[in-house]
Amino acid sequence: MRCDRSEGLPTFYFTLDVEPDYARTNRHALLDRLPELLSWLRGEAVPLTAFVVGRYFEEGRDAIDHLLDAGADVGVHGHWHRAADFGTMYSAHTEEIERGTAAFRRRVGRAPKGYRSPSGVISRDDLALLARLNYCYDASVFPVRRPGRYDFSRAPRAPFRWKDSQLLELPCGLLTRRLPAGMTFLNWVGAGWGGRLLARQVVAQRGHQIFDAHLHNLFHSSAALRELPLGLRGAYEAGRVFGGLKCLQALVAWMRKSGWRFGSLDALADELNRDAGAVPTAGWDEVIVRATARASA
Ligand SMILES: [Zn+2]
Repeated sequence: MRCDRSEGLPTFYFTLDVEPDYARTNRHALLDRLPELLSWLRGEAVPLTAFVVGRYFEEGRDAIDHLLDAGADVGVHGHWHRAADFGTMYSAHTEEIERGTAAFRRRVGRAPKGYRSPSGVISRDDLALLARLNYCYDASVFPVRRPGRYDFSRAPRAPFRWKDSQLLELPCGLLTRRLPAGMTFLNWVGAGWGGRLLARQVVAQRGHQIFDAHLHNLFHSSAALRELPLGLRGAYEAGRVFGGLKCLQALVAWMRKSGWRFGSLDALADELNRDAGAVPTAGWDEVIVRATARASA
C-alpha cells in the first residue's frame, strides 16, 4: 500500500511490543489474550507489526505461531527485556540484539527486517550492529526526552535513513510534543481526545503515525500488576478508567470515519526503499549533539 502524503491522508501503523507482562515482571499470562486482539485486528483489516522479545522465540511460545498464522509483521524486541536495568542511549546492548536476532532466525527461518529496542533505549553502537546484521529498519527512536535513558527530542519525526548506512529509522509518532503515540498515554486521555491529538501531530511526521502498544495496555492482569512499584501500578490503574481494548477499538473506528489508512512497518520500509531518493538522511552526531546542547542549555 502506498501512503500518499500528497493527498494528505494520514496512515496509522499499529505496533505491539510482545514482552513480559507490564514490561518488568516475570509473568506472561497476558500472552493468552493475543488471539483476541488478532481476531479483532483481522476483522478490521488493520495490519499488525509485532516486536517480540527473543526469549519467546527460544521458549517456543504459542504467541509466535499466532502472530505468524495471522500474517503479522514480526520483528525483534531485544532478548531478555530487563526494562528496569537497560542502560542509556550511550550503552551498547550487543547481547540483547545478537541473541534476540539469532533466536528469531532459528524459529522463523529467515532474517528479521525490523528491530525495536526495549524501552526505546538505542545507542550508536546498537545501530551499527543492526546495520551489520542487515536489518532493514529500526523502530526504536521515540523523539522525546526520557531523563536518565535518552534524549531523542531533536531527532527527525518522520522516517529517515541513518547516514552512511542502509538502515532506515521509523520513529514512533507523537501524541503531544512530549508524549509518544503510545497506548499507555492514550489510555489516560481516551479515544476521542487522543484521536484529535494524534491527528495534530501527523503533518510534522509526513503523514505517518507509528503507534506503540503492549498487551498490558489492552488487557489486565491483577497478579502481575501487584508486582509493580506503586507509581507504575498507579499509572496503569489510572489508564484503566478510559483505556484498554475498547479504547483502541474506538480510536480505530474514529480514524476510519476520518479517512485514515492503516499500514504495516515492513510495507512502509519496502515503500521507502523503492523510492530511496525521497528519504532524508541523518547522522547520530547531528541528532544527538543538538539534543545534548539543548539539554545543557
Ligand atoms: Zn518493551
